[in-house]
Amino acid sequence: MAGSVQTQLPAEINDLRYHQHPDFFRLVLTLTRIREYSAAELSQPDRLYLDIFQARLNPSLQGKTLKFDSPCVRELRLAQRNPTTVRITFELKTGTKEKEKIYYLKNPDRLVIDIYHRRDLLAVAKPGGLAEPPVATGGRPTGNTAGNQPPQAASPTASGYSLVRQLGLGVRKIALDPGHGGTDPGCLSQSGLKEKEVALDLAKKLKSILETQGGFEVFLTRETDVTLPLEKRTKLANDRQADLFISIHLNASPRKARTGVETFYLNFSPDPAVNELAARENASSSKNIREMRQIIDKIVRNTRYEESRALAEKIHHQLLGHLKQQFGPRDDLGVKGGPFWVLIGSDMPSVLVEVSHLSNSKEEEALKTDFYREAIATGLFRGIIEYVKSLGKGS
Ligand SMILES: [Zn+2]
Repeated sequence: MAGSVQTQLPAEINDLRYHQHPDFFRLVLTLTRIREYSAAELSQPDRLYLDIFQARLNPSLQGKTLKFDSPCVRELRLAQRNPTTVRITFELKTGTKEKEKIYYLKNPDRLVIDIYHRRDLLAVAKPGGLAEPPVATGGRPTGNTAGNQPPQAASPTASGYSLVRQLGLGVRKIALDPGHGGTDPGCLSQSGLKEKEVALDLAKKLKSILETQGGFEVFLTRETDVTLPLEKRTKLANDRQADLFISIHLNASPRKARTGVETFYLNFSPDPAVNELAARENASSSKNIREMRQIIDKIVRNTRYEESRALAEKIHHQLLGHLKQQFGPRDDLGVKGGPFWVLIGSDMPSVLVEVSHLSNSKEEEALKTDFYREAIATGLFRGIIEYVKSLGKGS
């Protein structure tokens, strides 16, 4: 059973700063406490919004609207959406956003939102500042000093990527973690196929491809059907100084029609379905979701978070694409943050991938065949290769 989000004292958002950098627009919100958030996009007009949970706007920021003439951001709105949720909405110029980075900084607690505009728009951008002074409608005057702060160790934009990426060292050693094992079978299919057995076979197949076709050094956290605590899996990867950690799982959903791939990196999740899945995958740990949240809170504020997400995205799209191409349509369940114990405490980019569904009769049948399992291993291999290729190109 999933742990429910506990009632917490609301954090107050009591200051905001912004600055147009050459490549991105930065908004910095100062909060009294770090809080969970959820970001999403809307179109017509293009908008990016953030809901910050268990949070309250300082009265001086209530209903505030700021207008900008920046390469991407047209307008910023702050609103108390309901008594416990603050919504920050960026209205964007159509088709100009390349990506966004959202992360926390400490001392004081700040939530940073960097919105990158498309590079081919650089020609029309005026780097180094806002083209026009922003027009504040109501509220107190706002600062404009976020861009003048010294580099922060926790900021992915300030510190760049890991040493491996910075030095262009690439990836040499890969840890593969077949989910479950021993007394923990994982999920079971209707006909009795066990997640722990399929995951182990997939890991062995992937190891073989990575070694022969990729020239990597690969090891499995377990080679046989043994019980292995989640914490030990990451410790093994750390001790052996793996450059990547990939935990392989099979999905099960009460919605029997659901198929496809779902890929995770470590983060909070506001999604009850994700927390339920995490609770199931975490079942062999004695810790609970609430304890995890405190740890995750510390962990998401480092550069590995960005790298893990990048790895998750590459693996997800390559695996899903390969399975679709070979076996026809299946669901794209997305790349998501999730509170998975096995991803906590690793020193390297780490992901957990639910490669297919044991709860779906078609995928279950396919999973009984070597052919389908080889295809999964190939898809995972392609994702890893794509990630490795992306290294060394800097941020
Ligand atoms: Zn599992």
